[in-house]
Amino acid sequence: MSEYIVSRDKLSHNIEELKKLANGVPIWAVIKGNGYGLGVLPLSELLYAHGIRHFCVTEASEARILRENGFSDVQILMLRSICDAETLSELMDLNVILTVGSALSAQAVEKAAAGRADIAQVHLKIDTGMGRYGFDPNDLSQIISVYKDHSHIAVSGIYTHFNCAFCDDQLTDQEFSAFSAVLSALHSQGIETGTAHCCNSSAFFKFPHMHLDGVRLGSALLGRVSFQTKLRPVGFVQTQVDELHHVRKGQSTGYGAIWKAKKDRELAIVPIGWYHGFYVSCKEDRSRKRDCLRGIFSNIKAMLKPPCATVEIGGKTCRVVGAIGMLHCAVDVTGMNVKAGDRVTVQISPLHINGIKIKYK
Ligand SMILES: *Cc1c(COP(=O)(O)O)cnc(C)c1O
Repeated sequence: MSEYIVSRDKLSHNIEELKKLANGVPIWAVIKGNGYGLGVLPLSELLYAHGIRHFCVTEASEARILRENGFSDVQILMLRSICDAETLSELMDLNVILTVGSALSAQAVEKAAAGRADIAQVHLKIDTGMGRYGFDPNDLSQIISVYKDHSHIAVSGIYTHFNCAFCDDQLTDQEFSAFSAVLSALHSQGIETGTAHCCNSSAFFKFPHMHLDGVRLGSALLGRVSFQTKLRPVGFVQTQVDELHHVRKGQSTGYGAIWKAKKDRELAIVPIGWYHGFYVSCKEDRSRKRDCLRGIFSNIKAMLKPPCATVEIGGKTCRVVGAIGMLHCAVDVTGMNVKAGDRVTVQISPLHINGIKIKYK
């Protein structure tokens, strides 16, 4: 059986580490994408046990899981503008704070709330660079209109989402300035903006002065940020050797026969493949010339020194040989005295996990 084992201790360590750095500023735990693969409910339960009372979702179903499992005293923020009346109604039933990111989305929320004689709680989203949801920071009159002209909308917060916090400090600074300018303009009109927030995990670490009234953290909970921190990775796949397979010199394993044994080899067949997320990475972007160039260089590098997937058996790192299949891979264990049933540890990004049970330990 294959399981993705999540260490409660390591996750707890990360949460406490982040709380220390947040220094009293509330953490809004982002639990989208099935809790970044760790499961909405078990992840949220652990977060709750560590005092987290603010959650961000991108689906009504995630909010439903929380509300139906006793999370009645937490704030839940929907991170997308929603225009569909049915979903809006469901979100209001679940007492979720909505995002309003345009005049149109304000109209949809106003209509849905008026239709049920309700007042929708919302945070406004300002688009400072991501270019998806959010008001143009220069459209102040539209932004002010949400506060003033909608009797079924109560705005309790305002936020933006940086697009380059992981890679471009200067741009992030400019985006923060644009956001701050909106806040100042609203304050000068006597408008209370409530909870202002802008940091995701990267910005949280890099720009403490941007923490404002809340920080939205997802990847950092899992210890997945692109620079050195005290955070720890929280999980790994545990499975077992299904079969041992002897190949003689010249024989191959896997589709396409891309690998051939130079000498007799002993292979362990492990029931983990790309379907489960093994050796799968985020889609590479090749829409700019410079990304294409980078792609060419990394292909040349791969040609000179082929990248190699590995797993761990009996505390030893072992090379995967041949093409990784949908559900299986073959591992060179020559001379290691490995037996069927021996335990195998595999590193997989939880974001890509498919078809593997998540188990907290
Ligand atoms: C996903 C998301 C986050 C969390 O980002 P991380 O980098 O994973 O911390 C924060 N805010 C918004 C709007 C998001 O969509």
